[in-house]
Amino acid sequence: MIIDREKLTQFATEIFLGVDTPIDKARETAEHLVEANLKGHDSHGVGMIPRYVSAAKNGFLDVHANAELVKDKGAVLLVDGHQGFGQVVGRQATDMGLERVKDTGIVCIGSRNNHHLGRIGTYAERCAEAGYVSVHFVNVVGHPPFVSPWGGRDKRMQTNPFCCAVPTDDDPIVLDMATSAIALGKVRVAGMKGVPLPEGSLFDVQGSPTTDPGAIAAGGSLAPFGAHKGYGLALICELLGGGLAGEWTMQDVAKQQDTTINHMLMFIIDPDVFGGQDSFRREVMGMRDWLHSSDPAVGFDRVRTPGEPERETMAERLEKGIPVDEQSWDTICTAAIKAGMSESEVKVYT
Ligand code: NAD
Repeated sequence: MIIDREKLTQFATEIFLGVDTPIDKARETAEHLVEANLKGHDSHGVGMIPRYVSAAKNGFLDVHANAELVKDKGAVLLVDGHQGFGQVVGRQATDMGLERVKDTGIVCIGSRNNHHLGRIGTYAERCAEAGYVSVHFVNVVGHPPFVSPWGGRDKRMQTNPFCCAVPTDDDPIVLDMATSAIALGKVRVAGMKGVPLPEGSLFDVQGSPTTDPGAIAAGGSLAPFGAHKGYGLALICELLGGGLAGEWTMQDVAKQQDTTINHMLMFIIDPDVFGGQDSFRREVMGMRDWLHSSDPAVGFDRVRTPGEPERETMAERLEKGIPVDEQSWDTICTAAIKAGMSESEVKVYT
């Protein structure tokens, strides 16, 4: 089905209200998820709703929680999300950093114990909009791992995202990526659509390469992107996000339960502490133009910088609506009923 932004946001908000979420937190989480769909990341959009509803009902997600500043060392902040909606407590931690960076020029924030943060680019874009560079190292814990280490057959980590955004005079450059070859949610989406995944993304239970999204449910694993390099970056996200900023890493087997927690180490940097905004922006935008001026290679229409594909998809989906495959839609409607909405309330959106 195709659904427009406002209707989908309203539906998601109502579902979260059903599990007792305060209205502002329900709306903020819904807006974040729908924006992920708008930007083409269906894996981190409204398809997450069933997991969030289960987590709220099972006590793994505290729908009322706010981020708390637990340690303040000036340019270094430790913030605890208390397993609240990541979209809310992650944004609150980011805002604490954005307030502090005005005084310190650079701030390092340990943002720990967030329920799933969703699309990490959202926090980076918030920093870029305010004129700052930001860098984010995130680990993913709370359930068993799905990603194999380079050279290993057993699953040892998750899709540990890395993100960095750089402001320009117009749209920021936003590198926002899972360190696995693909995000786990993309396996779910491909499974729902019944389509194969790209070569090099998955291993089956024997450790042989496969493109079958069903391989994960059958005990297979996700591959790291870029062989040993992606594996190395995933490990750094685990150690900096989970070990340094957070409270635990994936090796704590007792904490591999049925939820998704993100610990995030985040740096926010004011270009004025170095050579200044003007010279930095001149370099950034000059570099972007330089890259754009490259002739396209065979099979490509043009060169893009990170963040552009998301903006292109967003422009298209704002105009034509957001596609949601039937199976994902059914699971969202089932979650809505589970959250306490009636059949007739759900029907308004179908
Ligand atoms: P992706 O592979 O679609 O894109 C990765 C990056 O590459 C993006 O910055 C994108 O703009 C850029 N890119 C894509 N095509 C490009 C091109 N042709 N030229 C230049 N740049 C290009 O993203 P992904 O790795 O599948 O991650 C998807 C989302 O999943 C991200 O938003 C990430 O934050 C999120 N994620 C979240 C968690 C979590 O636990 N919260 C875990 C993993 C991933």
